[in-house]
Amino acid sequence: MINSTKRTKIVATIGPASSDPEMIRSMLHAGMNVARINFSHGSQEQHIETISTLRRISNEEDIVLGLLGDLQGPKIRLGDFDPIYMNAGDKIKFSLDGSIEGTYGLPHQELFEALSSGSKMIIGDGEMDLEVVENDGTILTCRSIYEGELKQRKGINTPGTTHSIPSITEKDRKDLAFICQFELDFVALSFVRSAEDILELRELMESHGKSIPIIAKIEKFEAMKNLKKIAKVANGMMVARGDLGLDMPTEQLPMLQKEIIAVGNRYGIPVITATQMLASMETSPRPTRAEASDIANAILDGSDAVMLSNETAMGRHPTLAIQTMANIAQNTEKEFPYKAWRTKRKAIAKLGNISDAISTSSCNLAEQINAQMIVTSTMSGYTARQISRHRPVTPIYAVTPLIKTRRQLTLLWGVECVRMGQIESTDEMITESIAAIESRDTNIHLEKGDLIVLTGGVPFGKTGHTNLIQVHEVQLDSV
Ligand code: PGA
Ligand code: MN
Repeated sequence: MINSTKRTKIVATIGPASSDPEMIRSMLHAGMNVARINFSHGSQEQHIETISTLRRISNEEDIVLGLLGDLQGPKIRLGDFDPIYMNAGDKIKFSLDGSIEGTYGLPHQELFEALSSGSKMIIGDGEMDLEVVENDGTILTCRSIYEGELKQRKGINTPGTTHSIPSITEKDRKDLAFICQFELDFVALSFVRSAEDILELRELMESHGKSIPIIAKIEKFEAMKNLKKIAKVANGMMVARGDLGLDMPTEQLPMLQKEIIAVGNRYGIPVITATQMLASMETSPRPTRAEASDIANAILDGSDAVMLSNETAMGRHPTLAIQTMANIAQNTEKEFPYKAWRTKRKAIAKLGNISDAISTSSCNLAEQINAQMIVTSTMSGYTARQISRHRPVTPIYAVTPLIKTRRQLTLLWGVECVRMGQIESTDEMITESIAAIESRDTNIHLEKGDLIVLTGGVPFGKTGHTNLIQVHEVQLDSV
C-alpha cells in the first residue's frame, strides 16, 4: 500500500539493530522508503541475508522499497595498535606498517607523499586532531592538538590535503560486482572528488552489463570545488555531513548543505541529507530539539530524502527514529513554501527539453485548477523526477509497469509509485491509473468534478519522450 501523507523520503541504514525481519516490517510501516546497506561493514554473506530479508518483507507488505549499496570508497584509517593516551602537545611517529622502532602503523603510502609540515589529520569522528611536524617520506611525526586517546583503525580526514589514493578501491570493485549481481537500486560512492570518479564507476558497472543510478557522496573539499561537474554526471547526491564536516570547517557546513541541495535541484537529481539527524535517538526515545529543527530545515532547503545512520543501524529505537523523522517531515511539509519555491527556482530550473517543459507546466496547471493529483505515466522515471523538483503542492503519482523504475523513484520527494500494466491509449491510461491509485492509496477519495493532470508519452511504452499533458474531470460512476 501507499502512505501518501509524508512526502519527504526516508533512507534508513541497516545494521545489527535492524536485521530482524519483524524490525524491518515495522520500519517499513513507520516510513522507510530506502534501505542503505553499508559496504564498510559486514561480509557478503551477511549482505545476501539482509537483501533477501528486505526484499521478502517489502513484498509481503506490498510497500516499494529501494535498496542502496553504499561503497566504502578510499577511506583512510590508522593501522592496528593498542590505544595510545596523548596529552596536548605530545608527539607520535607513524610509518607505513609500524615496523620501524618507535612508530605506529599508517598503511597509506599516498599520505607519506602528500602530507607536509602543518598538514592536519582529524581522527575518527573528530575526537583527536594531529598536526604534522615533519615528514621525511618514511616517518611522519605528528603533534596532538588536544588531550585524548588515539585508537587503532580509526578513520582519518585530511582537510586541505590532496592525495592520490584511487577513488575506487579493490574492495569497492568486489562490492560493485556484488551490487550488480544482486541488482540493488542505487549505488553510492563515498569520498567522491571529481566527475571522473562517477564516470569511472559507471564504466565499471557497464562492464557488468548494468546501469544502476549513482549517488555521489559529497564529503570532500575537492567535491565541493567540483560540485556542478559532479551533479551533471551523477544520478543523485548525498550531503554526507559526517565526513564533510571534518574535511571542511564545521561552521561552513550549514551553508554547504544548502549549496549541495540547490545544485542537485538545479540539475534535476535527488539529494539525500545525511548523518546525525537524530543522533540522540541512538539511546533516547526523544530527539533533541536541535535535531527536530535540523530535519525540518533540511526539508525546507529542498532535500528529497533525509537519512538515518547509526540511529537505525545500531540504535535502541530504529522504528521510533523513523516515526519521529516522518512526523517532523509531515509537519514541515504543511508549511513548505510551495509557491515561492517555484518562483525562486524558475530561473535556474530549465533543463531545456520537452519533458522538463511539460513537468513545469503540469505543476503550474495543477495549481491553477486546484487539481487533486498529477499522474505521470513513465518508463524511465525521468518526468517524475522533473515534476518532483518543482515541489508541487499537488500529490504526484508515477505509474509504470517497471518494478525497477518504481524502486528507483523511492528517493524522490513527493513521488508515489503505482504499478500499471502496459497501456495502449490515453483513455486507458486515465482509467487504469486512477483505478490503480484509488485501490492502493487509502488517502485518495475522488469525487465527481475532481480534476486530474496527466502526463505521458504517446505512443505509450517508449522511453524518453513525454509529449502529452491532459486535464481529466472525474465523472460520477466511472472515472
Ligand atoms: P558514512 O557517510 O556514514 O558512510 O561515513 C556519510 C557521512 O560521512 O556523513
Ligand atoms: Mn562518510
